[in-house]
Amino acid sequence: MDTGEYAAEPFTQDGKSLYWPGYKKLCAVLRDEHVSPHYGYVQIDVRTIEALWAVQQYLIRDGIDAPIVVHSGYRTPQTNAAIEGAARMSLHMWGKAVDFHVPGVSLDELAGICRACPISGGVGYYPEGWVHLDTGPRRFWVG
Ligand SMILES: [Zn+2]
Repeated sequence: MDTGEYAAEPFTQDGKSLYWPGYKKLCAVLRDEHVSPHYGYVQIDVRTIEALWAVQQYLIRDGIDAPIVVHSGYRTPQTNAAIEGAARMSLHMWGKAVDFHVPGVSLDELAGICRACPISGGVGYYPEGWVHLDTGPRRFWVG
């Protein structure tokens, strides 16, 4: 959201193996932009990308073809520590969590879709304007 960057790349071409050019581009967009790319770029957990993809497929089936607007993807421990209210052991620091919204989709609806996604683990609802999705243990909270 803050960088204005955009990625619309496939992360797989056969549904089994990673398509590296697309996967690397998605990891770049999900990097911690608060630090230099040397520290801020990691390989995002593939299951997290799959969960985002599943949410987007659900929306497309519902007639909503809109981008996933990422508020926060990977966070270095330093960036995470600087965020007020961030969990101390946040899965963002392992590349396993993404905060996002989708234009035209209410946060209620988006959180419900995330909870219904069988790949997702934790789903956090943040009325300030985003939903947190991770691939840790299954749980739900309101932030
Ligand atoms: Zn989050």
